Amino acid sequence: MRNSIYKITTFFILAALIIIISQEVLTRVIAMFLLFIFTIIEASYTFVSLSRERDQDLNRHMDEIQTHQSKIKRDKTRFLSLIDTIGSGIVLVDIDGNIKYVNREFNEYFGYKDYVGQSFTNMIDEKGLTDFIKSAYLKETTMQSELETTLKIYELIATPLFEERIFIGCIVLVHDITLIKNSEKMQKGFIADASHELRTPITAINGMSEILLRDENIEEETKREFLEIIHAEGNRLEDIVKDLMQMSRLERNSLTLRLEEVNLSEIVNEVMKSLEVEAKRSNLTLVNKAFSKTIEADRAMIYRLFSNLIKNAIAYSDQGEIKVTTEATNEELIIYVSDQGIGIPESDISSIFERFYRVDKARTRDSGGTGLGLSICKKIVELHNGKIEVSSVVDKGTTFKITLYI
Ligand code: ADP
Repeated sequence: MRNSIYKITTFFILAALIIIISQEVLTRVIAMFLLFIFTIIEASYTFVSLSRERDQDLNRHMDEIQTHQSKIKRDKTRFLSLIDTIGSGIVLVDIDGNIKYVNREFNEYFGYKDYVGQSFTNMIDEKGLTDFIKSAYLKETTMQSELETTLKIYELIATPLFEERIFIGCIVLVHDITLIKNSEKMQKGFIADASHELRTPITAINGMSEILLRDENIEEETKREFLEIIHAEGNRLEDIVKDLMQMSRLERNSLTLRLEEVNLSEIVNEVMKSLEVEAKRSNLTLVNKAFSKTIEADRAMIYRLFSNLIKNAIAYSDQGEIKVTTEATNEELIIYVSDQGIGIPESDISSIFERFYRVDKARTRDSGGTGLGLSICKKIVELHNGKIEVSSVVDKGTTFKITLYI
């Protein structure tokens, strides 16, 4: 605005001067000279203001570019840290088979190396993985496979990358599926074991009842013997099914404990009372030295825990005492269930809490055990934020130690 006023004023002054001195040639020359000067000033004015505007535009553009650049940089950092913490390995390979990018998880799976810029065939030691990438290159299609190393099982997924329909490389995702696979294996093993356990009493019941039905002349005494076996095997079947149901209830993550104030000594007394006859039959003495302390726990589960442990102590002892004692510190409550029975060989100690694991199958059968008792105990203790351990000496006895963190 100021420029325009200035220009207009300059123009009028010059015009007046021209009119005044136009009579004379000299003054005409001067006037023309002044006009010439004015034109130059005018032109340079326009030029200066134009270039100033251009400079401002340029600065604005530069600012915008800088803002964009720092946004791209920020997005890239965010994207890379997201990819690093995605929980799966990622490797990006270009059309020539050179590695363009690997994320942190991939490094953790296959070792930290300077992968980028190198051919994947030289840099990845795991042959199963290089073979997989090679075939993904040949087929130029999405591929999926599994890779089993000494310690881990991985799922591999290769996705080809195209630019205007032209293959430009591929991206390979690596998921650690070891836990899933192991739990699948365990589940399959459990189903096989459970079916085997159930089949034994079913076969006995079927066999015996078939003989009774077929042979009408069977002696009374034999008939009674067979019926007793059928009855015992029926009970056994019921026990296994009950234990299986209890186990599955305990394993369900949604299970909520019915917590209440539970007096330890009272529960041990109740369990011992219910097993008194059984213990007397085997000349065993049940001793409760647990102190009368209340803890917050699921009553039914704690009852089951002591019942399983004391039943086992009775089943695997031929003489002596079965004793429950307790110890407490500020943070821990320790409960010992000990017997003076047959003991557990050192080689079996580590497997004793596995489902259906038995040291002596024949003795377990006689005792009416299902092979699930200790795994149920372990689960109950873990649900109460504790741990269970065992120490044993063959022919001297066994002690189960339960530590509850209070
Ligand atoms: P079971 O129903 O067979 O007793 P458990 O899971 O309770 O199943 O126990 C697993 C195995 O541990 C038993 O078969 C037995 O061999 C051994 N065991 C458990 N408790 C004792 C114990 N107190 N003394 C000796 N062996 C024991």
